[in-house]
This record gives sequence, C-alpha cells and structure tokens, in this order.
Amino acid sequence: MTQLESVIGLEVHVELHTKTKLFCRCRTDFGAEPNTQVCPVCLGLPGGALPVLNQKALAYAIKASLALNCRIAKEITFDRKNYFYADLPKGYQISQFFQPVGTKGYVEIEVDGKVKKIAIRQLHLEEDTGKLIHLGGILSSPYSRVDFNRAGVPLIEIVTEPDIRSAEEARLFLQKLRDILRYIDISDCKMQEGSLRCDANVSVRPAGSDSLGNKTELKNMNSFRSVYQGIEYEINRQRELVMRGESVLPETRHWDEENEVTRAMRGKLASADYRCFPDPNIPPLKVDSSWVEQLADSIPELPDARLKRFVEDYGLPLRDAQLLTGSRELAEFLDATLAHYRQPKAVSNWIQGELLRLLNLENMGITSCKVKPQDLGRLLEMVDKGVISGKMAKDIWEEMFASGKGPETIVKEKGLVQISDENILGQIVAEVIQENPNSVKDYLGGKKKAIGFLVGQVMKKTKGQANPQLVNKLLREKLTEGS
Ligand code: ADP
Ligand code: ZN
Ligand code: MG
Repeated sequence: MTQLESVIGLEVHVELHTKTKLFCRCRTDFGAEPNTQVCPVCLGLPGGALPVLNQKALAYAIKASLALNCRIAKEITFDRKNYFYADLPKGYQISQFFQPVGTKGYVEIEVDGKVKKIAIRQLHLEEDTGKLIHLGGILSSPYSRVDFNRAGVPLIEIVTEPDIRSAEEARLFLQKLRDILRYIDISDCKMQEGSLRCDANVSVRPAGSDSLGNKTELKNMNSFRSVYQGIEYEINRQRELVMRGESVLPETRHWDEENEVTRAMRGKLASADYRCFPDPNIPPLKVDSSWVEQLADSIPELPDARLKRFVEDYGLPLRDAQLLTGSRELAEFLDATLAHYRQPKAVSNWIQGELLRLLNLENMGITSCKVKPQDLGRLLEMVDKGVISGKMAKDIWEEMFASGKGPETIVKEKGLVQISDENILGQIVAEVIQENPNSVKDYLGGKKKAIGFLVGQVMKKTKGQANPQLVNKLLREKLTEGS
C-alpha cells in the first residue's frame, strides 16, 4: 500500500475590532444585552435603509492583506451570498466573491528548522451573522434564541491554498497568523471569544500525487488545541476509510470537543448553490493607491523580522526572542528599555522573570503596566553601579510596579541606598565580630562557612543595605588581622 499524505487548507474568520459594524453605525461591543445593537440595515428591514461601507474596516482588511504579502485589488466589489438560516436576517450575507481585497499572499512558518511558505489564496471582507443560542444543547434543543448584535460585525476571511500537510503545520500557521494580526492591531484574535475562528478542509491522497482527494470541512474548533486535535482525528479517520477501500464523503463535520471526535453535520454545498451576485446597493469601489501606501507605512515591524533582529542585533538566544516577540507589547517594552540601557540579556531576563511574574500575579496585561521602560533601565543601571544590591532591586521593582514611580524616587523615599562606605561598614563589621565570638572562633578554626552567618548579621544591622561584596571583604580582612 502506498503511503497516504494529508492535505489541509484553512479558512480563517477574524472579527475586526472596529467600533461600528461593516455597513451601518451600530456598535460592536462584545457582551452587550442581546438585540440592543441593531438597526434596519443589519436586520434587513424594509424601508430604504441602505448599507454604507465602514472605511476603517476596509483599512484593516488592506493592512491585513499587506501584512500577509497579498496583492491589493485596484477595485473591489461586494456580493451577496444567498442562503436561508435563522441567524441571517437578510437571507443573504454580504461578502466578496468576485473582487476581494487581497489575493496571492503567503505566510512563512518554520517546519523542522526550515522555512515553509503557506500560500494565501485570498483575503476578503464580509459581515458576520447573528448568534443562535440553543437552549438544551445543539442536538436536542427544544427551541433556540437569536441575538442579532453580531449580525453585520466586520470579518475578514483568510483562505489558504491546500499547502498544509499536518495538524502541527496548521497550528503553526494559525499561531503565526494570529501573531501578525495582533501586531497590526486589527483584532484581539481571541479564539475562545470567537474573534478568531478556523474551519479546516482536510483530505488524504497517495503521497506524491498531484490530484486532490475528497475533502471534509471541519467546523467548531474554538482553541488551538481543538484545531490540532480535530485535524489529527480527521486525518486518521480518512486514512482508515481509504485503507479499507472506502471513499471519503465530501461533507461538513462538527468537532465534538467533549468526545474528541468529528461528526457529520451536513452534505457539502457547492459555491454555486449560494447564487452569488454583486450587491446592487453597493457599487464597485476604487481603492486609492496612495491610501494603500499610507496604510503600508503604518504597519509595524512584524514578528518574523523582529525575531531576526532580536537574535542578530541584540544577540538574544532564540528562545528569548521567540517568547518576547510573541507579543508586540512585550517586544516593544524590550526595545524601549534597551534604548536607555543596552544590556539585552539582562533586560530580557528581567522581563521574563520579574515583569511577567508580577503581571501574572495581578492577572494584568503589559499594556496596563505602570512601569516605564526607561525606569527599568535605570533600575538595572543602579545595580551595575553598586548603588543598590540585586535584592534591593527586586523590592524597589515591586514598588515601581505597584505605584509607577521611578527607582530614584523610591530609593530616596525609603532611604534605600546601598551602603558602600568602608568606614561605616568597617564599624559595623567590628561590632559584629565582637558580638559573635563563637562564629569568629569557628571561622578561624577552619569552618569557612561561618563567615556567611557574620555577613548575615551585618546585613541585618543595615536593613539589607550593606554592599555584600564589600562586607565579605572587610570581614575577611578584619578576621585575619586579629588572628
Ligand atoms: P469549496 O469549493 O469547497 O469551497 P475551495 O476550493 O473554495 O473549496 O477551497 C476552500 C478551502 O479548502 C481552501 O482553503 C482550500 O485550500 C481548501 N481545499 C480545497 N480542496 C481541498 C482538498 N482536496 N483537501 C484539503 N483542502 C482543500
Ligand atoms: Zn445596524
Ligand atoms: Mg469556496
């Protein structure tokens, strides 16, 4: 039996975080009281209310297309995709069928240490549907409720070519896509809240074959984990069918999270079944090329480029760079700190250790962190210069984190400067030697560890402010002097 290879193409829907809907001025706030963010346009009521395109949504779609290396259409159209369903009040969805915003792009992922390009077939704008709430579960629901707040919320749909070869590649692609879209700040991309949704098309074929096998389309995967598991399950299911000489039925299947299986939902509709045609209420729109250039200029350095720079320019280990570029805000915090204090590894360690520790503890995001990057830079500099000890730095850091005050202010307020004056420390060292004859005897008798206790006593007397290296040195000197 020849080897079977799996073939996967993804269709990803991303909710844009515009304030208003795609074709009307209704708000898009998540979690609002059901059916309070609706109007005649998004409800499809009769009476002459006409759709008007949200410029911001188009700008976001263009930015996303650019960030995914797509060509931008010179002219776009909006088309009606017709079908009946209870969550679709107009009886059609406005989408882009004939002239989408972006085409022929790609995303790079790293597979087994090699860069692999996943081609993007197209990126288009469309409106979301309403939301059905099935009372008593999807299969046994006696009745359902519908919330139209989501109807008309702008989405982009990103369609890949069938270039993906495993569940792992699908997950890597999706993570990269999410990182990029977060960097350009067009969506929060939260899978658990449905602002990033992924359908996976899966088929198998003899390895090396040019033709495609029958595919199934998997829906309802609402975490990275379920995308991975759903695809993995479906590949195995299809493999077994083919091995037994049976064929794969083209159908839409539902990922059952609880039982970890896919179930047939309905036969696959062909695109012709939707009778797409241009929406007569929305004329074709010319996309101004200088506007596109302006949008291109507003795109920040993207995750891949930033990762490369962190490794090459800052000399950070790959793992540090990966972790820090996973979030644009963290990466920018690092950049901003290094602009004041250029010790990449020290800053990276501090961010990964102390900063993330407190953020997690307080269940906060970096955007609400009160510490200014230059303040962190100065804190670390004070340690380097011996003004404060590493231990003091951690205490000061907690205070900085809580209050947003600069390190100098806190040092001054608490009188926290490290004592590095030999005269002052010399006196305290002498006192400690006098007060602890047993430890002195131990030390002189060869128990070198006894010095740790004596250092501790000096630290106690100075409330932790003595410079520990200096205390060590002075103690050794004085102890041998006296012997
Ligand atoms: P349909 O006509 O069923 O909507 P499309 O050709 O429009 O199919 O493709 C939809 C998605 O399915 C794309 O992401 C594409 O890459 C993927 N796809 C198409 N054919 C296959 C296949 N045989 N196996 C896996 N994925 C496929
Ligand atoms: Zn509306
Ligand atoms: Mg299609």
